[in-house]
Amino acid sequence: MAEQNFPTGNLMKGKRGLIMGVANKNSIAWAIARQLAAQGAEIAFTYQGEALLRRVGPLAESVGSDILVECDVTNDETMDSTFATLKEKWGKIDFLVHAIAFAGKDQLAGSFIDQTTREGFKSALDISAYSFVDAAKRASEIMNDDGAMVTLTYLGSERVIPNYNVMGVAKAALEACTRYIAADLGPRGIRVNAISAGPIKTLAAAGIGSGRHMFKFNKAASAMQDNTDPLGVAGAALYLLSDLGLSCTGETHHVDGGFHAIGMPQEGPLKEAICD
Ligand code: NAP
Repeated sequence: MAEQNFPTGNLMKGKRGLIMGVANKNSIAWAIARQLAAQGAEIAFTYQGEALLRRVGPLAESVGSDILVECDVTNDETMDSTFATLKEKWGKIDFLVHAIAFAGKDQLAGSFIDQTTREGFKSALDISAYSFVDAAKRASEIMNDDGAMVTLTYLGSERVIPNYNVMGVAKAALEACTRYIAADLGPRGIRVNAISAGPIKTLAAAGIGSGRHMFKFNKAASAMQDNTDPLGVAGAALYLLSDLGLSCTGETHHVDGGFHAIGMPQEGPLKEAICD
């Protein structure tokens, strides 16, 4: 991620929460962390494995965080210890950011029916969708009644994106889970939303076959004829997690330069390439 200016203020002052899914400084979760910290949030982070601790540790420190817990979302013991640590250190939390997804590289190239195996399907759905249900349940047990949760999704849930394959199915499940969790927690005033971000260069995006073409195509075909800026995704998270987002829940909010809204390319390089 290029050096960004995250608007400062007090919108998250007095709020504490957990961010799951920072792998490095390019992670979408890291842009969200910087934006929330710039607005006064206190943040705890999870990381997966020693290698990531070396990268995530200094990042967490740079936003004043001293709660960094190892967590693999497929491992109940580490999920238990993550939320037990939060309860012990803070008692209550105000927000949760879930920015976690995984599918084997073999699942993310070629035709959907040929590449999708039973194991690949189970693992993608488990890590990318069920993990939000599990984390939301655990977080809700220690969340203040006006808290909020956000997960990250992608348009491959609604439309066919070449090579996105089983991850598109997992994201469709994740968006449905978001609505069901929102309904369960709504009576307590807890809001639950998904941000559907356009392609952003991260480790996870690098795992998708022909990812390079995704960026070119999105730039040419989106309403804004540009790629998605992580700053916009972080701003949407700030809105949804702060009191600005009051009354907004169960929503999948697109931050993709308007790519999702376009049915046919407008004037520009894509139309010229095809039609002229
Ligand atoms: P990223 O930096 O690679 O983050 C993905 C995170 O998921 C990593 O921290 C990864 O940890 C973690 N993760 C995977 N399996 C895990 C497990 N079993 N337990 C705990 N953590 C696990 O990539 P990102 O693009 O920012 O992805 C964040 C979210 O945004 C994902 O849900 C992704 O689908 C979504 N999204 C991304 C884009 C995009 O274009 N980049 C667009 C729309 C939505 P490890 O590195 O240790 O596996």
